[in-house]
Amino acid sequence: MSLIVQKFGGSSMASAERIQLVARRALATHRAGHRVVVVVSAMAGETDRLLQLASQLTKKPHDREIDVLLATGEQVSIALLALALQEQGADARSFLGHQVRIETDSSHGQARIQTIDAEPVQEALADGAIVVVAGFQGVDAAGNITTLGRGGSDLSAVALAAAVQADACEIYSDVDGIYTTDPNVYAKARRIDVISCEEMLELASLGAKVLQARSVEFALKYRVRIHCLSTFVDGPGSWVVPDADPQEAAMQSGMEGAVVIGIAHDRNTAWLTVHGVPDQPGKAAALFRALANDHINVDVIIQNPAIHGRTDVCFTVAGNVADRAVELMNAQHDAIGFTTLDCNKGVAKVSVVGAGMRSQPGVALRMFQALGDAGINILLISTSEIKISVVIDDRYTELAVRVLHDAFELEKVPGGTALA
Ligand code: ADP
Ligand code: ASP
Ligand code: MG
Repeated sequence: MSLIVQKFGGSSMASAERIQLVARRALATHRAGHRVVVVVSAMAGETDRLLQLASQLTKKPHDREIDVLLATGEQVSIALLALALQEQGADARSFLGHQVRIETDSSHGQARIQTIDAEPVQEALADGAIVVVAGFQGVDAAGNITTLGRGGSDLSAVALAAAVQADACEIYSDVDGIYTTDPNVYAKARRIDVISCEEMLELASLGAKVLQARSVEFALKYRVRIHCLSTFVDGPGSWVVPDADPQEAAMQSGMEGAVVIGIAHDRNTAWLTVHGVPDQPGKAAALFRALANDHINVDVIIQNPAIHGRTDVCFTVAGNVADRAVELMNAQHDAIGFTTLDCNKGVAKVSVVGAGMRSQPGVALRMFQALGDAGINILLISTSEIKISVVIDDRYTELAVRVLHDAFELEKVPGGTALA
């Protein structure tokens, strides 16, 4: 008798009918002889609705209260799903994060899981119940409710799967697997059979929201194999595996010489330029310290060569924290001694990802050529071992995704094609 964790996201919980469908799936697994833990997100749009409500009351909400507010979305979901399961004849029991208990640190809004004491879950399973756990939430040592960052129910599911030593961790959404790019952006996107955690982590961090990046990080660390499936259609789905090295994963899915496995895009991007920063030791640190102290991640960073003792520093941050970043930079104006600050929110980041890039030259050339041929101007470039990202005008995001998908022939050969 195996133990299966199944996670259903907001789109799967969007209505009473869909909740009945989720209940039928979980119950079918249970009736097939498995023990089942179901992790659920808030109903589609609910987390955004709650945030919107809070924003009508205050411009500077306290993180602690936002977590209390947002956690209600998942509370509604577990109760509704447990009711639907009971109506279908199952013994179902719902649990909030603190009842499990999922203990986190106290970083509200982006809490990190520290321990999971799954005993109450194990007891309910031993009684033959289907256990329904609220995703996205935990509790800190002092008993405050915390949340795990947007898309955090994926992390709840992976962490629970590790804690209860589940035989499978199934993540159900409105797509039937991981695609070479967002299938809602490009219909030619192709489902990938097997992808390494390393590549999936890169895709997720660069905007492929099909899995939350931190859930993939967790899966890699605790060696959880994630199976991504659709709630609405049956199919083989995609495996995200920690154990295979990327080339091996590529071979398993029948491809050879994979260079680029997928394209990600992130429209939640803003580009800041700090002009006339004095060319002196410690100035860059002072600039970024202000942001780091406020937990703002800086991504692509470019510093121009100094002219007459001054330089320009450009960097990107997530679009939704751009105003805060500007505020923090301006507060440092006199201490740092820069001249002016620009913020451009109309940009997006488009990235090509593939572990095969490590050993294959020419990927950047192919990428820049394809964008150039489409008349798309590149504003910033950043590279790592297994990805190349460009920042472009947001108006061209979808076009860029399509031309890059075509340039690397991702629709044809699984995972990409060898460069000539
Ligand atoms: P859930 O609400 O179930 O957590 P999400 O909306 O978070 O689901 O994630 C599923 C969505 O991820 C899909 O609808 C799709 O638009 C998007 N997506 C982005 N990149 C990819 C990709 N490479 N493969 C599959 N889906 C992707
Ligand atoms: N409800 C949360 C969100 O919208 C968590 C999740 O969906 O995974 O981000
Ligand atoms: Mg999600």
